[in-house]
Amino acid sequence: MSQPKILLLGPPGAGKGTQSANLVETYGVEHVTTGDALRANKDMETEHGTPREYMEAGELVPDPVVNEIVQAALSEAADSGSGFVLDGYPRNVDQAEYLAEITDLDVAAYFDVSDDELIDRLTGRRVCDDCGTNFHVKYAPPEEEGVCDECGGELIQRDDDTEETARERLRVFEENTLPVVEFYDDEGDLARIDGEQSPDEVWEDLQSAVEDAQ
Ligand code: AMP
Repeated sequence: MSQPKILLLGPPGAGKGTQSANLVETYGVEHVTTGDALRANKDMETEHGTPREYMEAGELVPDPVVNEIVQAALSEAADSGSGFVLDGYPRNVDQAEYLAEITDLDVAAYFDVSDDELIDRLTGRRVCDDCGTNFHVKYAPPEEEGVCDECGGELIQRDDDTEETARERLRVFEENTLPVVEFYDDEGDLARIDGEQSPDEVWEDLQSAVEDAQ
């Protein structure tokens, strides 16, 4: 098979970003993530307002805005003959239906993690403001507090990783995105992965799912 087209599904904090980095390194696919694209364009004026308003409240940014980001990124990947890992999209059934119109997927994987674990992971998460590497105050602390091990950049807490907003994001996930998980399950080829395992164990399971599809 040419490079794989992979979808990672899971609640915020499930490890999609970490595993996307493994997929990029191993398979050379493009990382397509609506969250990062929106963070880089938070104050972009759209007819629905700016992404910032939605993101800081933990709500979904309107579909036309995210669909356009994904359509552009996937056609760029197709033009350069690359596969992709899609992370953070689709987040509702309308987005999933739009995605089905514009591309075919080889693998859809879902990381299952309990809410208590997710709140712990999200509120303790710290992100490098320069290179985007993730740390965790308890589980993956940097060598020097507040400083990125990779590039020396400043570690910050995302605005939406406060407990209140994190809980709202989990509620939004349950309401809007769990039906997307069922959407792919109904198609019969969803790989369910225990996302509470160590990152290395999750990676082993994910790699098996990708290899099985090849
Ligand atoms: P993430 O980094 O994936 O957790 O995304 C951060 C925030 O960006 C979300 O809480 C939403 O406000 C917004 N966002 C990211 N992806 C989408 C999407 N596919 N649809 C709507 N909003 C999104």
